[in-house]
Amino acid sequence: MSDNINQPANQTNNQKNVQSLTQPLTHDDIRNFVPPTHCLDGKTILVTGAGDGIGRVAALTYARYGATVLLLGRTSSKLEYVYDEIESLGGKQPAMLPMNLEGATYAEMQQLEGLIDKEVGQLDGILHNAGVLGQLTPLEMYDVDTFAQVMKVNFTATFMLTQALLLLLKDADHGSIVFTSSTVGTHPRAFWGAYALSKQAVEGMSDIFTQETQNTTNLRFNCINPGATRTNMRAHAYPGENPMSLKTPEDIMAGYVCLMSDASIGVRGQVVELQPKD
Ligand code: NDP
Repeated sequence: MSDNINQPANQTNNQKNVQSLTQPLTHDDIRNFVPPTHCLDGKTILVTGAGDGIGRVAALTYARYGATVLLLGRTSSKLEYVYDEIESLGGKQPAMLPMNLEGATYAEMQQLEGLIDKEVGQLDGILHNAGVLGQLTPLEMYDVDTFAQVMKVNFTATFMLTQALLLLLKDADHGSIVFTSSTVGTHPRAFWGAYALSKQAVEGMSDIFTQETQNTTNLRFNCINPGATRTNMRAHAYPGENPMSLKTPEDIMAGYVCLMSDASIGVRGQVVELQPKD
């Protein structure tokens, strides 16, 4: 493995990477990616919040394209259901990693790293997808315990888990870390409180990790903003909205697969909106 992704040695060692290194994908390319059938073969990808919503569909989709998927979530029964779904679609045997990110300690995350290293032996990607909405209310009235909970799940635990798993990711040929942002993360909006602030912090973290690793490792850090998507969280945020007017998680998977596949090796430090407003 080369120490610097810009060194020509990388390109000669791995012919299929040449195009993505010399012609980085645009955001349109990422949104409209047509995944080759086996584009995630040989990769191990951890998905947080894998039991429901976008995370569940991302886990199934990664398995469908050949990845071994590690299912992290707080509700074991939901993880078991996704595990069974992956088995029935003929995917590689997944693993369940029950963890409540709200209370999880750094020591538990380090234990998780040891477990993945021992039982699986590699980690090529993390989709940090788990998230909570918290309250939609003015900051002046925001419940401080809820504020801390939202920041822990959406941001602090995301940082802790990334740091705890970084050595494994560095061992991958091209580790990909994908954080989940939101439109209110890029453009903070009144009443979105801790949710918006946690997503802003996630975007900043992705930027800092990118600056700190881009010249010395093959890691890439990016944010994905799914846009309005038909899930429980969206229904909770917009109870009056007709869910049938929204895209489903399945509709937006091209970008999720692209950022985990080797097609996106040259993509670093981006915030990719999957449903940009014209
Ligand atoms: P859902 O509420 O449908 O799913 C959230 C997932 O996160 C669930 O699997 C949930 O587990 C898990 N989760 C929540 N808290 C914890 C915790 N403490 N520990 C571990 N897992 C936890 O949300 P979406 O699928 O809509 O959202 C996925 C991501 O996309 C989030 O980061 C969200 O902010 C982001 N997003 C979503 C948009 C949308 O329109 N849907 C728009 C913009 C961003 P469980 O099911 O067990 O509760």
